[in-house]
Amino acid sequence: MITVKTFVFNEFQVNTFVLSDESNECIIIDPGCNHTSQQKELTQYITSHALHPVMLVNTHAHIDHIAGNLFVQSTYNIPLAMHEEDRLLLKGARQFADMFAFPIDQLPEPDQFLKDGDEIHFGNTVLIVFHIPGHSPGSITLYSRENNLVIAGDVLFDGSIGRSDFPGGNHNILIKGIMEKLMTLPRETLVYPGHGSVTSIGHEYDTNPFLQGQ
Ligand SMILES: [Zn+2]
Repeated sequence: MITVKTFVFNEFQVNTFVLSDESNECIIIDPGCNHTSQQKELTQYITSHALHPVMLVNTHAHIDHIAGNLFVQSTYNIPLAMHEEDRLLLKGARQFADMFAFPIDQLPEPDQFLKDGDEIHFGNTVLIVFHIPGHSPGSITLYSRENNLVIAGDVLFDGSIGRSDFPGGNHNILIKGIMEKLMTLPRETLVYPGHGSVTSIGHEYDTNPFLQGQ
């Protein structure tokens, strides 16, 4: 059974997730912690729950989701995984951060690339990777069938979808991916987006204005 811990970090209010199960192994997703106080909050949670981080995953390489990569990687000595098609974004992230005057550490290279259909294992838990481009070329979501939840990155939000006006974005491809890969999941599946509150597949199917008439 997965426990989802959500932190809201940095100037962009990104949701950072720690997913753990009864084995006490955990993975860290989209560490946005770019201030010491946020980094402390994250490590204190992991220490106080006696968790053992085994992997760092980025749903995509936008700066708000990757700002704490170096901190997490060097603190826990764990591999960084993301989709290969966000490599260019990662390369340009420093420049992008400067444009927003966004404090960001050095950015480590990924150790592992994830692709559609891959499985991520920690403890007794399996997450399936869905590649859903359109917000960024390499955006992924992580699905647990047993736990009825999906970590959605910036693909799908409560009442909205990811912006597609950034470099590499594509609105139609994004909608197609959401309809084919997320809206076909059971309605009760909980959706944990990269920003904002938790929602469900059924709620978004019925009410998300971007998905009506699709
Ligand atoms: Zn994004």
